[in-house]
Amino acid sequence: MASRPGSGGVAVEAEWSLSYPEYSVEREGTQEALFAVGNGYFGTRGAQEEAAADDVNYPGTYIAGVYNRLTSRVAERDVENEDFVNCPNWLPITFMIEDGEWFQPGRGELLDFTRTLDFRTGLLSRTLVVRDDQGRKTRVESRRLAGMANPHIAALRYSVTPLNYAGRIAIRSGLDGALINAGVARYRQLESRHLEPLTGEVEGLLSHLLVRTNQSGIEIAEAARLTAFRDGREVAVEVTARQSPGTVYSTLEFDGEEGVALSVEKVVTIFTSLDREVKSPLAASRSLLAEAGGFDDILQSSARAWAEIWEKIDIEIEGDRLSQKLIRLHLYHSMVAASPHTADLDVGIPARGLHGEAYRGHIFWDELFILPLYNMQFPETARGTLLYRYRRLDQARAYARAHGFDGAMYPWQSGSDGREETQVVHLNPVSGEWGGDYSSLQRHISLAIPFSTWEYYWTTKDIAFLEEYGAEMFLEICRFWAGKSEYNEETGRYEIRKVMGPDEFHEKYADTDEGGLKDNSYTNIMVVWVLKKSFAVLAALSSEARRKVLGKIKLTDEELAKWKQITARMNLCISAEGVLEQFDGYFGLEELDWDAYRAKHTRIGRMDRLLKAEGKSADNYKVAKQADALMPFYVLPAHEIAELVSGLGYPARDDMLRTNFDYYLKRTSHGSTLSKLVHAHLANLAGNRDLSLELFMQALRSDFEDSQGGTTREGVHCGVMTGTANLVLASYAGLDLTRDCVTLTPRLPDAWRQVRFSIRFNGDRYSFVVAPDNVKVRIDRADKTPVTVTVAGHQHTIPAGQWTDLDVS
Ligand code: BGC
Repeated sequence: MASRPGSGGVAVEAEWSLSYPEYSVEREGTQEALFAVGNGYFGTRGAQEEAAADDVNYPGTYIAGVYNRLTSRVAERDVENEDFVNCPNWLPITFMIEDGEWFQPGRGELLDFTRTLDFRTGLLSRTLVVRDDQGRKTRVESRRLAGMANPHIAALRYSVTPLNYAGRIAIRSGLDGALINAGVARYRQLESRHLEPLTGEVEGLLSHLLVRTNQSGIEIAEAARLTAFRDGREVAVEVTARQSPGTVYSTLEFDGEEGVALSVEKVVTIFTSLDREVKSPLAASRSLLAEAGGFDDILQSSARAWAEIWEKIDIEIEGDRLSQKLIRLHLYHSMVAASPHTADLDVGIPARGLHGEAYRGHIFWDELFILPLYNMQFPETARGTLLYRYRRLDQARAYARAHGFDGAMYPWQSGSDGREETQVVHLNPVSGEWGGDYSSLQRHISLAIPFSTWEYYWTTKDIAFLEEYGAEMFLEICRFWAGKSEYNEETGRYEIRKVMGPDEFHEKYADTDEGGLKDNSYTNIMVVWVLKKSFAVLAALSSEARRKVLGKIKLTDEELAKWKQITARMNLCISAEGVLEQFDGYFGLEELDWDAYRAKHTRIGRMDRLLKAEGKSADNYKVAKQADALMPFYVLPAHEIAELVSGLGYPARDDMLRTNFDYYLKRTSHGSTLSKLVHAHLANLAGNRDLSLELFMQALRSDFEDSQGGTTREGVHCGVMTGTANLVLASYAGLDLTRDCVTLTPRLPDAWRQVRFSIRFNGDRYSFVVAPDNVKVRIDRADKTPVTVTVAGHQHTIPAGQWTDLDVS
C-alpha cells in the first residue's frame, strides 16, 4: 500500500489519510471542514492554530446540542434564528522571534507546507517552514486531536525549530471565547454574538475560561494546561499572562538555538452545563485536567478508541483505491459528527456535522440516510437520536395541533427544543422583498422518523425501546397522517394536500401563492407504509405494553380501522406505464431544454436559481432538485412497493423501478448531494452498473472536491458521507436487513475485486468478504448456534464462529 510521510516523520497510508501540500487561500475553507477533528461530542475545524477568523480562515468549535436563539432586524422585520454556536476556540497558539510579529497564516514566505489527517487515529498534523523578512527560517510542527477515549479532552502539540538562527522565541497560547458566528457569509447580516464571558483566569501554565450563551443560558467551560519542552525535555520557562473578557492567553519565553525544537503541549478539557451529571462545567473541566495525562498518553488512548471503532466500521475495498480512501474519509467524518459518545447526549445528527454553521446545526430528514450505519454499528447512538425525537414528542403534538391535526407532526428543521426552526419568509436578495418560504411543508420528515424507528427496532430487536418510546412516537405520527389524509367522496380515495416532497424546487402550484402540493407520490406511499407498519409495531409489543401505550395515547379501534382503510384507498397518481407522478399535476408541466442549460452553465444543480435569473420559475417545469418520486425505491425493497401499490388497487408492474428511474433521472438536476446517492443505488438495482458507479463516484467526491462550489466549507454533508458508506453495503454487496434473515445479493462494480465489512444484526456480528463469484461469511454470536443467511438468492445455514465459503458464480 502506498505510504506518504506525515508530519513528525510518521508514515500514513494514502488510503487512510487526507493530505494536502498547500495553503491555498481559495481552498482553505473547504480544507478546514475536511480536516476537522472531533468525537461526536465536539468538532473543531481544521483551521490553523495561528489563524483568527477572517475571509480565508475560520476556526470553529461546535459542541453537540449547543444552540442559541437570537432575533435580528432585517428589512424591517424581526427574524428569529436558532444557531449552532461557535464555541470558544481552544486552538490558538503561535510564536514570535525576538520583537517581531506573531506568526499567522499568510505572514512570511512559506517554503514548505503539508497538512495530513490520519483517519485511523484522528490525528491532524501540519508541518511548515516559513522564512521571515529577515531571512530567518523556522520549522513549525503541530499535531492535534479530539479525544475519542474521553470526548471532553482535546490535545495539541506545537513545536518551533529555528533553522538558521538563534534568538529569543516566544510561544503564545490561549483560549478564545470572544467570538461570533461568522462561518456562513449569507447569514452575516443577522445577529451573531451568542457568547457572554463569565470568568477567565491564568495561573502560570494553567488557565480556564467560562462563557455562557446569551439566550439559552448554556455554560461552556474550557481549561488548559501547558507544558514546555526543549529538545524533547520538559523545561521551566518564564510565563506571562494576558486576559480580556472572554479570552485568556499565556506567553512562554524560550532561548532559541539553531536546530533545537522548542515545544508546547496544550491539553484542554471541555464541558458544558448540558452535560448530564455535571453541576459545574468549570469545576468538571479543571478536575479532568488535573487527571489528564500528556499529549502522547492522550493520543495513545484516543487512537485505541479509534481502533475499536474502525474494527467495526471499516469497509475494505480491493480494486479501487480512490473509493477506498474516500469511503474512509466519509466514515471518519461520520464519527466526528456522531460517535458512541453521542449516544447519551440529547441530540440529533446535524445535516452538516459538527463541522460548520450551514443550516445552523439543524437536524433534517438526512438521518434517514445516516442512521442505517449506526443501527448496524452503534445502536446506542441510533437509539439516542430517536430518543432526542421522543423527548420532543410534546412539541410535535403541539405543532400538529397548531395546524389542526391530532397526533404528532415533527418539524422539518429541528434544533434545541423540537419546535419548527424553518424560516417561513425569505428575503429575496435581488428584489429586497420578502416572500413565502414553504420548505417546512416537507412533512415527509414525519415519515423518516417512524421509518428510522422501525429500522432501528428491526436491526437490533430492542423491544424495550419500542415498548417504552418508539411505539408511542410511531403511533402518534400515524395519527397525524391519518388526519392529514382526506377522503374524496367522488373518487373514493384518500388524498394528501399541502405538502412538499424532497424536491425543494416545487413548493407550490405556479398559479397560486398558497404553499404545498397535492398527492406527492413519495409521501402517499410512505404514509401507507407507516400506517401498515403500525400494526406490526403493535403486534411486536407485549400485551401489557400494547395496553399501556394504547391507553396512554387513547388510540381507539375506530382510528385503527380508519388507518387500515387508508392503506387500501390512498390515492396514487400513476401513469399507464407505471410512472409515479411526483405530485398531482407534475405531468402537465413544461419540459426543460436541459442541453441548452448544460451548454450555458458548468453547474446546473441549482436550476431553480438559473431559471429565476431568467425571470422564470421552476414551479412551471419538470425539473427536480433531487430524487423525490424515486425515494420509495431507495427506502423500500421492490417487493414491498409492489405489494403496497397493488394493495391500493393499482397495477404493480415488474419494471416499475427502471421505468421511474429512466423517467426522473433525465429531469433531475442533483442540486442536493443526497440525490446522486439515491440515483447511484437505483441505477445499480436497475442493472445499469456503469451509471451507478459514475453517480456513486460523484457522490463520493462531493465534499472531497467541493463539487457544489463552496458549500463544503460551511460543513460536510453528513447524509452523503454516511450514505455512501451504507451504499457500498446496501447496493454493491446487496445487503438487505429488512427480512427475517440477513440477505446479500452482490452486485459489485466491475473493477472491485472484493469488499470486506462487518455488521451487527439482532445482536450477532456478521462479517463478510464479498467477491464477484464468492462470498465468505462469519457469524459471531453468544449461543454459538447456526444462523440462516440468504446469499444470491440461496438460503444457507452457517455454523457460528468460523468462516464459511459460498460460491455465488
Ligand atoms: C436538501 C434537503 C436536506 C438539506 C439538509 C437540502 O439542500 O434539499 O433534502 O435535508 O439540504 O441537508
